[in-house]
Amino acid sequence: MFDLKTLVRPNILALQPYSSARDEFKGSEGVFLDANENPFGTLNRYPDSYHKELKAVLSSNKNIPEENIFTGNGSDEIIDLLYRVFCNPGKDKTLTFTPTFGMYQVAADVNDVALIKLPLQDDFQINTEALKPYLSEENLKLIFICSPNNPTGNCFREKDVEYILKTFKGIVVIDEAYIDFSTKDSFAKYLKVYPNLIVMQTMSKAWSLAAARIGIAFASKEIIQLLNNVKMPYNISVLNQQAAVVALKDVTTFEANKKLILEEKTKLKQALETLSIIKKIYPSDANFWLVEVEDANSVYEKLVAQKVITRNRNSLVKNSIRITVGTSAENEKLIKALKNI
Ligand SMILES: *Cc1c(COP(=O)(O)O)cnc(C)c1O
Repeated sequence: MFDLKTLVRPNILALQPYSSARDEFKGSEGVFLDANENPFGTLNRYPDSYHKELKAVLSSNKNIPEENIFTGNGSDEIIDLLYRVFCNPGKDKTLTFTPTFGMYQVAADVNDVALIKLPLQDDFQINTEALKPYLSEENLKLIFICSPNNPTGNCFREKDVEYILKTFKGIVVIDEAYIDFSTKDSFAKYLKVYPNLIVMQTMSKAWSLAAARIGIAFASKEIIQLLNNVKMPYNISVLNQQAAVVALKDVTTFEANKKLILEEKTKLKQALETLSIIKKIYPSDANFWLVEVEDANSVYEKLVAQKVITRNRNSLVKNSIRITVGTSAENEKLIKALKNI
């Protein structure tokens, strides 16, 4: 049986969360002399701590109840909060499948929590046989699954992820930063089935809002409550909440830009395939291609010299470079620069 309370750090379970002035008086009408704000200006009032308007729009956009939504200062904040809610420093452990997103390791190190790194197979899929012995590991609290995975670009097999959700007694975090670019379904459809599931999304990629720092988590209302208790009271500024609401209401622009990016992604692949310098293009469900070249360090530097900046992923996948899909003109510049090498 899944028992959330046994997974949460005792100090977090016992926490008396900060109660802001606006927590104590919930109305919106009146003369507000309760929060020591300045009466002058346009950004003089504290933001809504619970991002209610943002969650209402997200809820209708994603078809997920507001009580199952947490919004944070980017996914980065959410990853850190998950460590702080569930992992006792110096004692608990987490696990992920590598190569993957670097923030799981950074947040683990900051919080003094061990991160077990299980290598993906050659096809970048999860080796569930190798994972089995770890699933019953003592003090293993969180498993991070990045799907579509950064930097490899692929989604993991649904049956493997479901196997982990079913078998692991701790929390399974699925980071879906790139899901909008994929044809695969979000795991959010399993929220009612698996109480140990947390799905993370972000407005930084498909929603074009990296500057606004809006990360999203979907989970049971009990998990959402824990995240709310631990977060900083005003973790998303008024400006950023407003930017997110405006973007979410303009689904037409979102869909149009996404379509353009996906078309450019196909065109970029076709162009890369004609170049002998590109040895391999890995399959991708995201807005980037991971490519293999003969000498990634040298190709990376030679592109920089031509003012084209890619991500050298040689340290994660030998001789690989990760290329984000840009505008048509940007992609053409990249191809031209690659031809020059
Ligand atoms: C880009 C990215 C994010 C986004 O993080 P934010 O803090 O929301 O900008 C999250 N996870 C992965 C795997 C990413 O590549």
